Amino acid sequence: MDQSKDRDQVHFYITDAGKCGRAIFFKFKKAPRKNIDPRILRIFDHGNYLHQLIMKALFAAKKLHVVASEVHTPPQEMISGRADAIISLDNELYVLDIKSMNSMIFRNLTAPKEENVSQIQLYLHYFKIKNGILLYIDKDQQELKEFLIEYDPELCQRFIDGFKILQEKIDANVVPVVLSDYPKNWQCNYCQFREICDLTGKEEINWQLFKEKIEGINPI
Ligand code: SF4
Repeated sequence: MDQSKDRDQVHFYITDAGKCGRAIFFKFKKAPRKNIDPRILRIFDHGNYLHQLIMKALFAAKKLHVVASEVHTPPQEMISGRADAIISLDNELYVLDIKSMNSMIFRNLTAPKEENVSQIQLYLHYFKIKNGILLYIDKDQQELKEFLIEYDPELCQRFIDGFKILQEKIDANVVPVVLSDYPKNWQCNYCQFREICDLTGKEEINWQLFKEKIEGINPI
């Protein structure tokens, strides 16, 4: 589960995989952002609560042999996260990640969501496990859909390389370029940094110089 929704960021989270690098940059730099709508936070809290209930029910049913639950990535790695569980089926280990959603989205789900695949791929990478299961739960009807995910080392390497490049930009104070399909990308619609992103322009820019320019126009 994503615990990084609305707080300052000091390192990368697995849930950042596939997300806009510029938005992550702004989070690291504590750029001004819009508050998350309390309604969305409430939905998110409710989702977390349901998720815990469902985890308990699944594990109590002893249908799964749980090797470990709430498993953290190794602390020395540059990206941190917590998988729901590592389970064993027919003597084979699997990373299990559980996602809950409303009935309408659940009904239309025919393949795992790209961002969920990205996350579980990184768990597979860090835990050195070959297979994962993405388990989707319909919050309203309590139905389940599961997808088997095979470890893709090349994809993981691309994510890790992308994080390394982003870390360099964060250290050098260089705001990354916008997403290639900005502002049409769905992430831009929900982005807390949309306003500052529009002001910054589409290209790379030095964050310090940009801030000085803005403060010169709008002295604090
Ligand atoms: S508005 Fe779009 S491009 Fe700009 S930071 Fe947000 S997600 Fe990235």
